[in-house]
Amino acid sequence: MHKLLMIPGPIEFTPEVLSSMSEPTLSHVSGDFIKIFGDSLDMMKKVWMCPDGQAFIMAGTGTLAMDMAGANLVEKDDKVLVVSTGYFGERYAELLNRYGADYRILRAEPGKSVDPAEIEDELRTGKYKMLTFTHVDTSTAVRVDPVPIGELGRKYDVLTVLDGVCSVAGEEIRQQEWGIDIVLTASQKAVGVPPGLALLVASPKAMEKFHNRKSPVQNYYADWSNWLPIMKAYEEGRPAYFGTPAVNLVSALNISLSQILDEGMEVRFLRHKKTAGAFRTALKAMGINQIPDDSVAANTLSAPYYPGDIKGPDFIKEVNRAGVVIAGGLHPELKNRYFRVGHMGKITKEDTLATIEAIETSLSVLNHKFDRGAAQRVIEDELG
Ligand SMILES: *Cc1c(COP(=O)(O)O)cnc(C)c1O
Repeated sequence: MHKLLMIPGPIEFTPEVLSSMSEPTLSHVSGDFIKIFGDSLDMMKKVWMCPDGQAFIMAGTGTLAMDMAGANLVEKDDKVLVVSTGYFGERYAELLNRYGADYRILRAEPGKSVDPAEIEDELRTGKYKMLTFTHVDTSTAVRVDPVPIGELGRKYDVLTVLDGVCSVAGEEIRQQEWGIDIVLTASQKAVGVPPGLALLVASPKAMEKFHNRKSPVQNYYADWSNWLPIMKAYEEGRPAYFGTPAVNLVSALNISLSQILDEGMEVRFLRHKKTAGAFRTALKAMGINQIPDDSVAANTLSAPYYPGDIKGPDFIKEVNRAGVVIAGGLHPELKNRYFRVGHMGKITKEDTLATIEAIETSLSVLNHKFDRGAAQRVIEDELG
C-alpha cells in the first residue's frame, strides 16, 4: 500500500504529473518538446513573478541550482554575505568557498530569523558583491522575510540570492517586485515534480553581472555561457543542444506549472498558509511545540519537538506503520529532539487530517498522555 509522503520533499505528486512521466520520451530537438520546454520557461517566470527574468531548467537537484548561482556570479575573492538560518545556509557557505569567495556567515539561533538591521550593518561596509539567504530552511522550518533583504540589496547594490528550494510555489514570492536577483529551487518540493530538475530565475541585473565577469566560470556543467544560448533557443522555438535535457521530467514540469497557475498564485499561497496554521494549532492542542517562533514559522513544513520522553526513531516508525511517512531532524544541534513534516504542493485537508491521526495513534501506542481528538477538531474547524 502507498504511504502518504509527508516529508519536506519529495512530496505527493498529482496523477497528471505522474502519468506524464510515463509517456514515450520525445526527441529533445523535436518541435513538440521545444514547445513544452519553451512554455515551461515562460510559466516559471509567472510562478516566480519575474516577467523580465531569465529562466533556467537543468537536469540536477536543488544543490545544482545553488551551485549555478555561486559558479556564475562569484569570482575569486568576491565578498559574499551568507545569511544562515540552518543547515542549507551552511551548505551555501561551503559551496561558495569552492569558488574562492571571501564569505562571511551571519547566523541566527535555531528557530530564529536574522534581524535585517544586522544585515544592513554588514552591507553598509560597501564591500559585498552578493548576499545569499534561505527563504525556508528545511532544517529549522524558519521562514526569512525576503522583502527587507530585497530592499537592502537594491540600496547597497548587492546581488541577492534566495534559496527557495523549500518555498517556491508554496510561500509568497514576488521576485521582480521584491528586487530579488536569483530565486532558485528544485522540482521535488512545492513545485510538485519528481526529483531531478534544478530551476532558477535570474534578474536582468544578475545576468549583467554574469556578462561582465573577468574570469571564466570554474564549473563546466553549470556555466551559463553553455546554457544561456540553449534557454534562448527554446524560448524562440529553435532546436539547440548542449547537454540532453531530462525530457520526461520537463514534460511533467510543464503539467505541474500549468496546474499551479490554474489554481492561481494568491490562492495557492493562502492554501499553504492556512494548512500550516491549522497544523501548528493542531500540534499545540496535543501539547507539541515547534522549533521556529510562530512569527517566522514556514508554511511549507513544520519542525515539531518530540513531546515528553518520546524517542524519535520509535515514533517515526509508528507513524509509518500508521500509513504516513515523516522525516527526522536535520539541524546538527537539535537532530534528535524534533521531527519534520512537509505540507506543500497538492496537500488537502484529508492529507493533513490523516497525518494528525497517524501522529495521535503513534503517541498513544507509545503511551504518551494527551487530549486525543483535540487536534483533529482543530483541523476540521480551520480547514473544514
Ligand atoms: C532540499 C533543499 C536543498 C537541496 O536540494 P536537493 O534537491 O536535495 O539538492 C537546498 N536548500 C533547501 C532550502 C532545501 O530545502
